[in-house]
Amino acid sequence: MIAPSADAVAEVELVRVHLPLVTPFRSAHGVEEIRDLILVRVELADGTTGWGECSALARPTYTAEHTDGAWNLLRDELVPGLLAGREPDVVGHPMAVAAIRGACTDASLRRRGRRLVEDLGTVHGRPASRVRPGVVIGRTDTTEQLVEMVAARLAEGAALVKLKVTPHPDDLDAVRTIRATWPGIPLAVDGNGSLDRRSLALLDGLDLTYIEQPCPADALVESAAMARRLDTPVALDESITSMGTLETALTLGAGQVINLKPARVGGVRPAADLARTAVDAGCGVFVGGMLESGVGRAVALALAALPVCTLPSDVGPSTRYVADDVTAPIVADQEGYVTIPTGPGTGVAPRPDRLDDVAVDRLIVRP
Ligand code: MG
Repeated sequence: MIAPSADAVAEVELVRVHLPLVTPFRSAHGVEEIRDLILVRVELADGTTGWGECSALARPTYTAEHTDGAWNLLRDELVPGLLAGREPDVVGHPMAVAAIRGACTDASLRRRGRRLVEDLGTVHGRPASRVRPGVVIGRTDTTEQLVEMVAARLAEGAALVKLKVTPHPDDLDAVRTIRATWPGIPLAVDGNGSLDRRSLALLDGLDLTYIEQPCPADALVESAAMARRLDTPVALDESITSMGTLETALTLGAGQVINLKPARVGGVRPAADLARTAVDAGCGVFVGGMLESGVGRAVALALAALPVCTLPSDVGPSTRYVADDVTAPIVADQEGYVTIPTGPGTGVAPRPDRLDDVAVDRLIVRP
């Protein structure tokens, strides 16, 4: 059940926001300069409000979802379905579904004065009160820039450094330089499905914690062959979309580490269930990032605080990505730890003034 009852939902609002990023974020699948997100507000009949986030990218380059499509799907299918009391019944579109589910879960928990992280903990074990995340650094123009950024993040206490890479020789040289400069740090790379045998052979000699998504999302047999050949653990991100794809990947041996994002698998509860299954199968698990606003970031942090997440998450403080988040900023302490928000529900909500500043489209729907 996603809401207390169908008639308890008084109103749903969709808010499309444009959040400028502090620095453009480059990966194998493109460049993000402005984060184009959809926030969903669900208001219950008693006035309790909950928020969810659709973290799809502006263009369908990471997965098939994108912001324009998600807006239409939310407006035409998921919001009317919620107001009619239906569970999301569309095929695919996990990020749009996660937004609706997230808003309903947040509202329901707030009404009961209960925290999301505690609620997840009743099923998945006692959560940590704070986590020390790693950092993901996009492709840079020069290796000097990259060295500077890595030095700054390590000084801030990052638990792991992950570099976005392609088979381009400059990217591979940059990873070699970072390893040579800091021989002892936990270092990983993310190929977003772009890596070939030659680049993998080179990366395999750099004592990496894992190589993420070397092969295209649906190439699980190829990924299994890579995982057998490499000494470095293979991590799967885009490949894992459901319990079915996770079980296929585990059966094939397509990866030894699983990256889970609530957005990518339809919400935080399915993500926690997948994390449990992966850990029980002997995999390492961590929570990946989607350049979320504070709304999505708080949900990802709640997942990262669970004991089923065994490796440093990618979910850092919001101040790394945006100068002025839509919520109060999620910050790290001097040792690099991020405290899980403490209020009911996710513990965060958009600030009305800031929401007005960054909103580019709004739609209110009532039963
Ligand atoms: Mg990834």
